[in-house]
Amino acid sequence: MKVTIIGASGTVGAAAAFSIAEQIPLSELLLFSRENSLPAIRGESLDMYDALAAKNIHVNLKVTSNIEDIEGSDVVVITAGVSRTSNMSRKDLAVPNAKIVAYYSKNVAKYAPNSILLIVTNPVDVMTHVALKSSGLDKNRVLGLGNHLDSLRLKSMLARHFDINVSEVHSRVVGEHGENMVPLLSSTTIGGILLKYFRNYGTFDINKIIDRVKNAGTEVIKRKGATEYGPAFAIYNLVTTIVNDEQKILTVTTFLDGEIEGINNVCLGVPVKLGRKGIESIIPVEMDDFEKKSFLNASNSVKELTNHVFKEIDL
Ligand code: NAP
Repeated sequence: MKVTIIGASGTVGAAAAFSIAEQIPLSELLLFSRENSLPAIRGESLDMYDALAAKNIHVNLKVTSNIEDIEGSDVVVITAGVSRTSNMSRKDLAVPNAKIVAYYSKNVAKYAPNSILLIVTNPVDVMTHVALKSSGLDKNRVLGLGNHLDSLRLKSMLARHFDINVSEVHSRVVGEHGENMVPLLSSTTIGGILLKYFRNYGTFDINKIIDRVKNAGTEVIKRKGATEYGPAFAIYNLVTTIVNDEQKILTVTTFLDGEIEGINNVCLGVPVKLGRKGIESIIPVEMDDFEKKSFLNASNSVKELTNHVFKEIDL
């Protein structure tokens, strides 16, 4: 198995590379960046070799700025793109990042047409649609990271609020990776018990938690300049599920064609069955009326920005 990271010189790309190298046995992990950053990713790879030797992990790390080297990749992760500062929204990045994602996606289709393409660059729901359209790959092969990370953030906050092991919390955030994300509280369980029946539920300020999940990325960026471990481990989760054909239900950005609430022609975060072929099926979710309405808002917001971006970059 060969995994490629395009944008490996960035904070998220480098941290994801380390997490993958440490935990997934691969025949090759290719770190790609533009030529100016080659010394930086060479440095990253040397540092990683030292760390992995301490754990007796043998890896084959390759470093390149030659896009043809992505040939033979089973999974390509695109993290390349402008990152936001704490006073920017993900939407501010849309047009410049769409040009970058479209360029690399076309090259993925040319040199690694059998790969699964995982988009991380923000605003990720729009960028996933840009990647799908510019690559021409099948929709099951193109997915985005966004709501999986939001779901992990919600899970962690609930576990800390109730002082319960994080593995006991099952929750999902769907819709947009951004302002219009939709936490599915109606189906959230702790230890198999629906949240609304859970002890202490009365003392639980749902709106406060939802706001904290929405602003989680911004809060990290404000304090340390960039998000790093959260996205990196979320990327690792998706890559390992694909490489090991785990058939897990995870929430990723995918192209909708009427499968949920009849919504179509937009890329949004929904639960999918994920495996070696990429998205094997979309899992319909039950939502209460408020969640349905919010999901529809997310769809309208992402559609509007996607249309704007397509027009601006002539896609
Ligand atoms: P970063 O540290 O600034 O790294 C940016 C990366 O993008 C570098 O590898 C850089 O490569 C590349 N890049 C920048 N401008 C480029 C251009 N014009 N053409 C080609 N490559 C370019 O950013 P980061 O913190 O790693 O974040 C990367 C992206 O991931 C951002 O869009 C961020 O918003 C997004 N993100 C998404 C999630 C999610 O859940 N979906 C979570 C966190 C971050 P060179 O070395 O070649 O310049």
